[in-house]
Amino acid sequence: MISYSLVCDNSHKFDAWFRNAEAYEEQHDRGIVTCPMCNSVKVEKALMAPAVSRMNSDKVSLSTGHPMQSAIREMLRTMRKKVTSEADYVGDKFAEEARKIHFKEAEARGIYGEATRDEVAELIDDGVDFLPLPHIPEEAN
Ligand SMILES: [Zn+2]
Repeated sequence: MISYSLVCDNSHKFDAWFRNAEAYEEQHDRGIVTCPMCNSVKVEKALMAPAVSRMNSDKVSLSTGHPMQSAIREMLRTMRKKVTSEADYVGDKFAEEARKIHFKEAEARGIYGEATRDEVAELIDDGVDFLPLPHIPEEAN
């Protein structure tokens, strides 16, 4: 498993996990690597530092083997498990419900669900607090 820092055409930066470099290339070529904030498929690997020259734009910073990495992976897995077992699933009404909770028109509670790119952009504009729900494949270690 490797993590890439990616950036979409709306300048959202996010990290995504892939089985390996080929898996990223394959998924990217099929247009299924999407920005968790706006769902854009126009996603590229982010440059790690402004000083990185264009010549090196295919290179990314990577690390493996540090105990912290499996700890974080385990935390993300646990978070997803807790959220999906304890929060209310609201399906594609996520944006509507998250906004209601934000503006105190609905009971404050944990929810999860799906939203379109436009809905996510509106939530960001409204200052609604939310996070992507990471999916870490079980077989990865
Ligand atoms: Zn985006």
